[in-house]
Amino acid sequence: MHIAEMLENKKRPLVSVEITPPEKGHSVRGVFDTVEQLLPFEPSFVTVTYHQQRIAYQEVGAGLVRRVPRRKNPGTVGICASIANRYKVETMPHIICGGFDRYETEDALIDLHYLGFSNLFVIRGDPAPGMKEFVPEPEGHRFAAEMVAQITAMNRGRYLEELDNAVATDFCIGVAGYPEKHYEAPNPTADLEHLKSKVDQGAGYIITQMVFSAEVFGGFVARARGIGIDVPIIPGIKPITSTRQLTSVPREFHVDLPDELVERITGAKSRREAYRAGVDVTTRLCRDLLDQGVPGLHFFTMGRGRSTADVLGRIAR
Ligand SMILES: Cc1cc2nc3c(=O)[nH]c(=O)nc-3n(C[C@H](O)[C@H](O)[C@H](O)COP(=O)(O)OP(=O)(O)OC[C@H]3O[C@@H](n4cnc5c(N)ncnc54)[C@H](O)[C@@H]3O)c2cc1C
Repeated sequence: MHIAEMLENKKRPLVSVEITPPEKGHSVRGVFDTVEQLLPFEPSFVTVTYHQQRIAYQEVGAGLVRRVPRRKNPGTVGICASIANRYKVETMPHIICGGFDRYETEDALIDLHYLGFSNLFVIRGDPAPGMKEFVPEPEGHRFAAEMVAQITAMNRGRYLEELDNAVATDFCIGVAGYPEKHYEAPNPTADLEHLKSKVDQGAGYIITQMVFSAEVFGGFVARARGIGIDVPIIPGIKPITSTRQLTSVPREFHVDLPDELVERITGAKSRREAYRAGVDVTTRLCRDLLDQGVPGLHFFTMGRGRSTADVLGRIAR
């Protein structure tokens, strides 16, 4: 079922979960463990991230080098298919612009259509590992909005080349929003305009970068509505439960952590106390967001389901 349809027909806010594929060579069992830990909370859908490859150059003698593509976390589509098969849960692959030209993207979309996927989460992707900036492929998409436009065209039966009686795909598209602004955008207004262009091109809902304040999220939704973004906006939730995450999360995701969370975790006398403080603060955040009337809560598990399960268990009480 299309996620936009689930959002429209929901009786209560949806719970959804983001999974990251294991590093190459590791077992997929950890992914299944995470999903099994969260199944009791009846997630409406599970999304699986996609990561750009790193290009390494290997000397092969005689002054020649060989281009070696390396992907650290392959397996997005396989993991989606196996979760859907095993647990009968709607799954959605993330699909990125980076590393693909629009012809390769079209082929990938055809594969996903044949496989029966009807939901896609479309993002530009982070810069390739080791790169400071995002560099599109020649003939690739520079921005997520361009890929949304390509998918919307395919949903109308329009492919990159003219085809007679071409079959239309049927993808529902989700895109990313940034309550604290995307780090490359010159200001929040420009970033919101860019978000609106993704919706104008055909995105049916938005999942945001992790938020840590219901007030910040509420302000973002109000500004989005103010410029005519009328699709559902689901907040992204990341339980922070250790002192290490207090620096790694802001560095990696360009987000601010509230004073209370930082003080409670740094003031904790043990790892267990820090964990409890993180679950406590996240639970309160989720309750505040639910009181605001959010259409769902989307949890970034990053390979671990326990803190998400603990938060969901407490919300349910
Ligand atoms: C819920 C969620 C899931 C994610 N999953 C993944 C994942 O699986 N894999 C991964 O690699 N990354 C993932 N990301 C991270 C994301 O790829 C990065 O944040 C990336 O830097 C931006 O992606 P985007 O789709 O938001 O880009 P875009 O919407 O293309 O925006 C990128 C930047 O360009 C600006 N911009 C957009 N259009 C224009 C324009 N026409 N002119 C000038 N500037 C413009 C925007 O304001 C923004 O600053 C995820 C992010 C979120 C919030």
